[in-house]
Amino acid sequence: MTQTFTGVETVLLDLDDTLWENNLYFVRSIRWLCGVGRSHGHTDRATVALLNRMEDRNIPHFGFGYDSYEASYLAALRILVARSGLENGAHAGLRRLARAQIDFLRRHPILWLPGVPEALELLHRSFRTIAVTKGHFGDQTAKVHRCGRAHLFHAVKVLPHKHESDYLGMIEEFALDPGRTVMVGNSPRSDINMAKRAGLRTIYVPHRLTWFREMEPIETHDPPTIELHGFEQVPRVLGPGGGAGDGPPG
Ligand SMILES: [Mg+2]
Repeated sequence: MTQTFTGVETVLLDLDDTLWENNLYFVRSIRWLCGVGRSHGHTDRATVALLNRMEDRNIPHFGFGYDSYEASYLAALRILVARSGLENGAHAGLRRLARAQIDFLRRHPILWLPGVPEALELLHRSFRTIAVTKGHFGDQTAKVHRCGRAHLFHAVKVLPHKHESDYLGMIEEFALDPGRTVMVGNSPRSDINMAKRAGLRTIYVPHRLTWFREMEPIETHDPPTIELHGFEQVPRVLGPGGGAGDGPPG
């Protein structure tokens, strides 16, 4: 029997890699950096480790977002080519190409995951849908505008982190009843475990490219978590009214 959640009023929705592709674009940019690394004698593993080290240094200061990533990316590039005796002109050319990689991250078209637009329409009809996304305010709201379906969110909240206290803040700000609210997302750490600790039921929709910093075992304590194979299954597990388009569930 498929597990369901009943009595739901509000559905909190992660955006990146839950509704649309996101990490895919970072992976592409990392592939480009690895190509540069290889042509300067560095293995892909060393290049990725270097980029991660730069991020470890920058995220605490600049937070999550493209500006922060760009700082790490350009710092990694500088180190990769440092000992190769590149002339200034060649170095500047590489920096321009690196910046173009980051610019594409900032303005790529929104690529919805399979079945998401239809499922989101259903959810919006039956529940209060609130987008809850972690990152830089400008980056995240720009994606919401670009997606062309901002009207399917009753509200959008951009958080610098998704800690337990951030979910408790959401509950207060939107006067949510935790027992009638469900959080849906792809990140075990930010979307599931932290929301559970704040007293919310959760729906985990894994994405194959989830960022390694977001991975950890799903906590087994209550409130429960339902794991699904795809977002298109979300309306079906949200009890009476979920996806039926016949008004809020009782
Ligand atoms: Mg996500």
